Amino acid sequence: MTTTAKATVRTYRNYINGQWVEGSSKETFAVYDPATEEVIAQVASANARDVDQAAKAARAAFDSGPWAQTTAQDRGRVLFKLAERVRQNTPMLAELEARNSGKPIVEAEYDMADVATCFEYYGGLANKVTGSVNPVPANALSFTMREPIGVAGQIIPWNYPLLMAAWKLAPAIAAGCCCVLKPAEQTPLTAMELANWLEEVGLPPGVVNIINGVGEVTGAALVAHPGVDKIAFTGSAAVGKIIVKSAADTLKRVTLELGGKSPNVFFADADWEAAVDGALFGVFINQGEVCSAGSRILVEKKIYTKFVEAMAERAKRIKLGAPLERDTKMGPLVSKEQYDRVSSYLELGKKEAKTAIGGGRPKEFSKGYYVEPTIFYDVDNHARIAREEIFGPVASVIPFDGEGEAIRIANDTPYGLAGAVWTRDIYKAFRVVKSMRAGIIWVNHMQPTYVEAPWGGYKQSGFGRELGPWGMEEYLETKQVFVNLDETPIGWY
Ligand code: NDP
Repeated sequence: MTTTAKATVRTYRNYINGQWVEGSSKETFAVYDPATEEVIAQVASANARDVDQAAKAARAAFDSGPWAQTTAQDRGRVLFKLAERVRQNTPMLAELEARNSGKPIVEAEYDMADVATCFEYYGGLANKVTGSVNPVPANALSFTMREPIGVAGQIIPWNYPLLMAAWKLAPAIAAGCCCVLKPAEQTPLTAMELANWLEEVGLPPGVVNIINGVGEVTGAALVAHPGVDKIAFTGSAAVGKIIVKSAADTLKRVTLELGGKSPNVFFADADWEAAVDGALFGVFINQGEVCSAGSRILVEKKIYTKFVEAMAERAKRIKLGAPLERDTKMGPLVSKEQYDRVSSYLELGKKEAKTAIGGGRPKEFSKGYYVEPTIFYDVDNHARIAREEIFGPVASVIPFDGEGEAIRIANDTPYGLAGAVWTRDIYKAFRVVKSMRAGIIWVNHMQPTYVEAPWGGYKQSGFGRELGPWGMEEYLETKQVFVNLDETPIGWY
């Protein structure tokens, strides 16, 4: 078994007010390569005092720095330049991302293309934001202005590290906000590389600050900070709830993207080859560490047994390997903590359902947080493996009889991020689309996500939308201006 080449341990500081600074505690934390379990970097921890410094730098840049005077065109150009840097440095960024997160290098390269496209999209959108004239009576004029919300605290997870940073930073910069970004403690490295280019692309000090540390300290201080106007969060529902409670004290705006337990629904008339492929892709891409993973696979009884067999047969071909090898289709999970968490669900799944394939650690690996692609079947939709987000390569296959039952099971979940339906019957497809309660429904596909279209959840998958113009809206306030055109005094008193 080939393993990732031994890495040198790099040191990263925090990026605050245009400077690279150590944490005031001088403490650092280790960042690992999950394929080799070796330390690849040491990163400065930001405590509450450092968070305060970053938030104040962002506040000052927003209130009185040159950023407030930049035009929308200038902000767009900054984002185009950032996109260019990402494209020029894709080999380095993709390798670092794969090494740090465990995702296969080919997927990391796609991520970097999406990062650049995200910066380009919002670069183009920056000067397309307009207000409106409102139809008030003829003796007045009312119009709206769109203004940046202010300082945005942005907290992101480890599954798509730089892409999540881009989803947060790009619309905020386009809107004219200032940012304090906290990457996940497991995967801060590509965001810190991005920080290298912030000044040279034209961002004044304080406009974007990137700080690192554990969520309960660094993230919590950011959410509680009175100088932060908005929190944009992607991560678990459990932490989302903590954030909403804490943000209530200062009545910050909050947007939450919290993942799910998304149904991938297969009717008997679906294109067989595409369906089997789509079921595996929907749940196993990125090791299953995907907020929209199609981890509940609903299959019509007429094809159920054959479908489970076909999935298991094809899943055997998934190549697990070192993230940097180009034929690797599944790397290790991101961390020991996630490996332990997923492993405990594997043990639970063996009790709650039947196992078609997988269920443990692949024997060929002596190191690394690898987990076999696992398919549980005959799963009851009320079993824990059908209700809780596992965030690993674990599928729960559930049989159904007819359209009504498919919709009932699909919607019987606290989450509502995504869903998919596979059928050749266009009438049935759109009836299911209309009935499923989720922020995105794919028809005869699962997972494609484009920056031009909205992303976000119903129910406990969160609120607010990212991407497209919807993503920019979340960083804008609306100000109404009312102009009296009538010189006559009000004459009320
Ligand atoms: P978390 O929700 O714990 O972490 C997401 C981000 O929030 C990280 O930057 C984390 O920091 C930060 N954070 C944690 N606690 C707090 C807090 N009290 N206040 C402010 N910020 C905080 O997810 P995990 O990474 O621990 O993963 C656990 C589970 O979450 C996964 O198994 C999966 O189910 C789900 N998840 C969902 C994602 C999605 O895209 N929807 C993405 C990632 C995870 P730090 O990690 O540095 O402690």
